[in-house]
Amino acid sequence: MNIFELEEKYIAPTYGRQPLTFVEGDGMKLEDSEGNEYLDFVAGIAVCSLGHCHPAISRALTEQAKKLVHVSNLYHIPTQAEFGEKLAEVTPESIQKFFFCNSGAEAVESALKLAVEHTGREKIVALEESFHGRTSASVGITWKKAYREPFKALISDAFEFIPKGDLVKAEEKIDEKTAAVIAEPVQGEGGVKVLPEDFLPGLRELCDENDVLLILDEIQAGLCRTGKWFACDHWGVEPDILTMAKALGNGFPIGSMGARSEVMDTFSPGDHASTFGGSPLACAVGKAVIETMQSENMPAHVERVGRYFKNKLQDLAERYKMVQEVRGLGLMLAMELDDEEDAKDVHARVQGDGFLINRTAGEVLRFVPPLIVQENHVDQLIEELDQVLDEVE
Ligand SMILES: *Cc1c(COP(=O)(O)O)cnc(C)c1O
Repeated sequence: MNIFELEEKYIAPTYGRQPLTFVEGDGMKLEDSEGNEYLDFVAGIAVCSLGHCHPAISRALTEQAKKLVHVSNLYHIPTQAEFGEKLAEVTPESIQKFFFCNSGAEAVESALKLAVEHTGREKIVALEESFHGRTSASVGITWKKAYREPFKALISDAFEFIPKGDLVKAEEKIDEKTAAVIAEPVQGEGGVKVLPEDFLPGLRELCDENDVLLILDEIQAGLCRTGKWFACDHWGVEPDILTMAKALGNGFPIGSMGARSEVMDTFSPGDHASTFGGSPLACAVGKAVIETMQSENMPAHVERVGRYFKNKLQDLAERYKMVQEVRGLGLMLAMELDDEEDAKDVHARVQGDGFLINRTAGEVLRFVPPLIVQENHVDQLIEELDQVLDEVE
């Protein structure tokens, strides 16, 4: 059987896949099974921030794999403590203690559990157009009906949504029963939407006034993606709880929930756990990821190339009326087209010519390349988009 037949027979049909099979990667490049090369502006959905097979990460992975892979949290794990210390160097000052897990959704779950236990309250307020994951709690605070509705039976009635940018509505919903408000400073799956200017500081204030915890979900926007270590740094807003995952292991599955020490210390042994979380292997990789981002001065690089990229996209927006809007921060950028059919068409043509981009929220083209991307890579993609937009329009 070929791979398509094997998949059809043995793999859950949960994904609509592009007709591509990659076999090798190096930095910005991916090679498919037919030997074609692609320039990657997807990075495994904002995951491979240091590019494919970064030597420092491959080294950390293979060296630790030869020493010790897993022992469980029944025992002390030196690399876990060291990874925590390293993360505290880059997270907002408020975030000083960490719980380790294996995915974004698990980080969100642990954040919700911590918030409810710490406050003794029962309500969670989330934003419209949010995305927080696919487990029953994280999908319950995810806005898109198609993701949430089929699983209504499993979803808590503790969850409520408020519109973005509306502090009056927020004030109405946030009360003495609210444990936490959860928000993505830049909404990724919702279509790369940066929260309106004064909204996040306003939410912070409302949370403080009501003794409510502010959870920021930076699973996609965190770790240099937006040109700062965390997207909330753009507003100078510090969360009480912070969730991280995607870029944390550069492709090795690592999730983390960080919190203020006094909030995290609500947890006592037995309250929460993950068998695989914080393994010697995962933590060696995670620590190498942060160290590499630090030594490559990633925030400044992303700020520079991101600005260059966004300007070029804006030039295209001025020349093609099909382009409705260009938005985003750093290297989390999007171009919204006039409709879904055009977006599909542009996506397919660009991909056919050897450039990987992603389409989200229907008509939005999303660009989340490895953060190591250089201006010359951007130029190549822009030239390609220019040609394709001209053909399609
Ligand atoms: C991807 C994502 C998640 C879910 O992460 P998984 O690892 O797929 O569980 C949660 N929140 C945000 C903001 C994300 O982008």
